[in-house]
Amino acid sequence: ARKRLLKLKKTPAITKDGTPVTLLANIELPEDCPGALDAGAAGVGLFRSEFLFMGRAGHKMPGEDEQFEQYRKAVLAMKGRPVTIRTLDIGADKPLDTTEHNALNPALGLRAIRYCLAEPQMFLTQLRAILRASAYGKVRILIPMLAHAFEIDQSLNMIRQAKEELRDEGVKFDEAVEVGAMIEIPAAALALPMFIRRLDFFSIGTNDLIQYALAIDRVDYEVAHLYNPLHPAVLQLIAMTIATAKKAGKDVAVCGEMAGDVKLTRLLLGMGLREFSMHPAQLLAVKQEILNADLPAITPYTRKIMRSMEPNEIARAVEQLQVM
Ligand code: PEP
Ligand code: MG
Repeated sequence: ARKRLLKLKKTPAITKDGTPVTLLANIELPEDCPGALDAGAAGVGLFRSEFLFMGRAGHKMPGEDEQFEQYRKAVLAMKGRPVTIRTLDIGADKPLDTTEHNALNPALGLRAIRYCLAEPQMFLTQLRAILRASAYGKVRILIPMLAHAFEIDQSLNMIRQAKEELRDEGVKFDEAVEVGAMIEIPAAALALPMFIRRLDFFSIGTNDLIQYALAIDRVDYEVAHLYNPLHPAVLQLIAMTIATAKKAGKDVAVCGEMAGDVKLTRLLLGMGLREFSMHPAQLLAVKQEILNADLPAITPYTRKIMRSMEPNEIARAVEQLQVM
């Protein structure tokens, strides 16, 4: 089966009825890029930059030059394909050695963009490094855990400041670099127009979206059985985000685990999703699902699923989608 999948590497990801779909890779380090290309990824949809910061000896954060080298390495390795670099998403399940986290509810605490805005010097350093890498290929900046308009505005101001500094120093970068948001807090999905007005693209982080919508710690095994991507509330949040972003003409992807689950590929296609970002190991299997998917059949059936609030009915209907 693996051999058959490998043959799909160069096959364009197009549904049975001729609709193109973009398949991107999630990476943790630049070293993951060759594997992403091997799987036929059209680019990097999520570079989890925190892995450059984690597990470092001596409580030391990577400086601007070191970060720049790593981002540039990824950009060059992807040979002109877009690389979406997510700004530091530490805290909760991804602790940083240099931070003393004693929060009672780390998932609800000072993580990701909240931490970055509380440490502006560190954030600025990362933004400068990312911008510098944008001179070497197509780079997009993705900001995690946004919920408030002022967080978006502050982040954009920081990017503006980083650009101004580089300009003054005569350092090259892409002036038109796109800035996007992870949609992974239910408040963000529900207030998407607030984001659409300010940002260029969106990536739905279903791992956290499920955690926050269902109020279950994603790393607590005692509530793992409550973690359900098919909960009707979760599906509504995802479908709404896709529809609202598309209506505004903005790119929207899913980059959480759901994007790499072949049992959910057709459901996401039926919701209108055309951009999936996942672990490279899942990419060819998802592509196979896409090649066999018939949107004129799947789309109306998915609309029907979205009207259901009965978990058993939804689960059965999603199974039905597999054989359509
Ligand atoms: C997510 O939350 O779905 C996501 C892609 O980000 P992470 O898993 O790194 O939190
Ligand atoms: Mg997340």
